[in-house]
Amino acid sequence: MSAVLHTGLAELVTCTGEGPDPVERLGVLPDAALVVREGVVDWIGPVAEAPVADERVDHGGRSMIPAFVDSHSHLVFAGDRSAEFTARMAGIPYDGGGIATTMTATRAATEDELRALLAARVAELRGQGSDLVEIKTGYGLDVATETRAARLAAEVTDEVTFLGAHVVPPEYRDHRADYVELVTGPMLDAVAPYARWIDVFCEPNSPYSFTGEESREVLEAGRRAGLGLRVHGNQLGPGPGVRLAVELGAASVDHCTFLDDADVDALAGGDTIATLLPGVEFSTRSPYPDARRLLDAGVRVALATDCNPGTCYSSSMPLMIALAVREMGMHPAEALCAATATAADSLHRTDAGRIRVGDPARLTVLDAPSWEHLAYRPGVPLSRPVTGADSPWPSSQRSA
Ligand SMILES: [Zn+2]
Repeated sequence: MSAVLHTGLAELVTCTGEGPDPVERLGVLPDAALVVREGVVDWIGPVAEAPVADERVDHGGRSMIPAFVDSHSHLVFAGDRSAEFTARMAGIPYDGGGIATTMTATRAATEDELRALLAARVAELRGQGSDLVEIKTGYGLDVATETRAARLAAEVTDEVTFLGAHVVPPEYRDHRADYVELVTGPMLDAVAPYARWIDVFCEPNSPYSFTGEESREVLEAGRRAGLGLRVHGNQLGPGPGVRLAVELGAASVDHCTFLDDADVDALAGGDTIATLLPGVEFSTRSPYPDARRLLDAGVRVALATDCNPGTCYSSSMPLMIALAVREMGMHPAEALCAATATAADSLHRTDAGRIRVGDPARLTVLDAPSWEHLAYRPGVPLSRPVTGADSPWPSSQRSA
């Protein structure tokens, strides 16, 4: 059994700390070392007490954090919407209508084309230090294409989410109830074998997405099929999404941009995690959600990219951290925890988002002496994954 000892770490951030102080919750160990054996964290402790291993990587004074968990993405699609982005930056507001553009391109793509596009996006995301990723369907909106999207997503992650209720496709605009029936019937039956979660774009403010009652039907059908619940809620305006998610015990309600006091109270009193997606507000030039208000009310907050071709075509978790700190009132330590441990919790995963003995080694090394540099140096590519016995940065030393 091959064991690799990682040393030269100015800081090892475990995200296993406790207490009211966000920095304490990061569980930062100075001058620590770590042994990985067969892909599992086998030992953590002071470098002076490190055991002998088969190989050793000296990271040269860099810092190690848990790999980011991207708990909300839409990576299975063809085409792009750069023209829509440019138009929006010229003043045309977003209303959810562009999703049909991606639907048309995705239906027309071959399976091999979609698989290659997905693989490239996952590689891009992992190359920046994310590991576990949740991937939604939602650009097929017919039984065959939704099933294909779920099957392809299941080839690259265990966290596949059925989002047939992304928008009502154009062919059903005049008889929406029939589409809800399709999503909660034959489409759900076909996709559920590949999925762990069901999601719905609950947004009465958009004519393309779903009302509170339609959303409830979708979520309850998913639950009957054995899927966990996630909700896109309160993105474009006030609405019923957040309270519905909490009422039904969803694992996560995502966006949470427009909240009233009752929404915040519901989140504070429930088990549902609020996943904020600041790349969307950045890319649509919209007001940011108020993370500070949620955290001060005792709500658990996660961060994710929402990587998708329309409203945020970024796979960068460090960008989300920087935006959360700069624009949403999060302490840098809260933002890092939200992008790792809390994001893993939102997927009900205990084997990601923290660095603990016995867990899979999902490790990211920052080309910086401290985790603080993540938010402090926005736009600089500081984070890379540790894969196998290799060090991600060229100047690190590897020896047998
Ligand atoms: Zn989304």
